[in-house]
Amino acid sequence: MEEQATALDELAEQIAVCPNCSLAKTRTRAVPGEGDPNADIVFIGEGPGFNEDQQARPFVGQAGKFLDELLSSIGLRREEVYIGNVIKCRPPGNRDPQPGEIDACAPWLDQQLEIIAPRVIVTLGRFSMKRYFPGQTIGHIHGQARKIDGVTVVPMYHPAAALHQASLRSTIEQDFKKIPAILEQALKEEPKSREPQVTQMQLL
Ligand code: URA
Repeated sequence: MEEQATALDELAEQIAVCPNCSLAKTRTRAVPGEGDPNADIVFIGEGPGFNEDQQARPFVGQAGKFLDELLSSIGLRREEVYIGNVIKCRPPGNRDPQPGEIDACAPWLDQQLEIIAPRVIVTLGRFSMKRYFPGQTIGHIHGQARKIDGVTVVPMYHPAAALHQASLRSTIEQDFKKIPAILEQALKEEPKSREPQVTQMQLL
């Protein structure tokens, strides 16, 4: 819907000039995220790497190519989903994001998710998993859908990890195959309301 697209565009403009952590000094371009503003499913990665930082687009390097293949294996194109990251700016040398950076960046992702209001969130890798499953390990919970605050959240291995470790490749491929049924189930359930409930008082 147009309102959601406009709201996401406005956020992206703010993210592009965000000064909230020291990554602002080293980034080439911030990477807000991209896809369908009204997507039923959102994928959340870790943060931009070299190629993303150059192009201001998420998942456009090797891991992105694999993510595109995984999406295509379940009949989805990236235009039909939304793809974002926990942090919007590339950490120098692709080091892990630090807790202060993740905290400083969290309000952007919070607002994006509020606007898109997806039915399903797929976390890719440990940093986005930690938002929803603190203290848990990916080896134990990957591919298992949980309902959190009315949204179905599915933790998955990061596509880059699967590229580096051959045995994880088939694990993430198998986990992705579960997505269509998880999405179908989530779509059958009562949607989380975007609007504040109209109360009896307001009707009077
Ligand atoms: N890895 C991520 O987690 N996000 C990207 O955007 C690219 C690679």
